[in-house]
Amino acid sequence: LVASLEQVDVTYIMIKPDGVQRGLVGEIISRFEKKGFKLTGLKLFQCPKELAEEHYKDLSSKSFFPSLIEYITSGPVVCMAWEGVGVVASARKLIGATNPLQAEPGTIRGDLAVQTGRNVVHGSDSPENGKREIGLWFNEVEVIEWTPAQAPWLM
Ligand code: ADP
Ligand code: MG
Repeated sequence: LVASLEQVDVTYIMIKPDGVQRGLVGEIISRFEKKGFKLTGLKLFQCPKELAEEHYKDLSSKSFFPSLIEYITSGPVVCMAWEGVGVVASARKLIGATNPLQAEPGTIRGDLAVQTGRNVVHGSDSPENGKREIGLWFNEVEVIEWTPAQAPWLM
């Protein structure tokens, strides 16, 4: 298979508290499923302040950092690990620009969000950060290596 010769990456996708509160969990998960990526981790989680600060540590000098931490810890998030060829870059395309005003229609933020500070979803920005963030948000046993079955009901 051609795909097996390509680089398989992992990315950390998180539905932020506004996405959960607005009932967008199914909608957002389904976009990654329909694209064809493989879900390897999934949980609803109340993020402690320390973890939010570690996750966003590169932004700690920004003026919006305290409000970002308050936002991410304001309610449960949905943590996901997704695997696939080019999944990091592809997921960023599905998610759209950071500012929903600049996000194209058809992207998650372009379709479902209005403000940068309430942009419903996170996606890792590099394969290295994909691995780092999955390690940060999941225990080892929560990430499942599995092979899709050659299911007779799909043939
Ligand atoms: P992305 O989530 O698209 O990778 P960044 O890594 O630049 O974007 O920022 C992380 C998150 O911080 C954004 O998704 C958004 O929730 C928040 N953020 C970024 N810039 C701003 C801003 N100017 N004002 C408020 N929140 C911001
Ligand atoms: Mg980022």
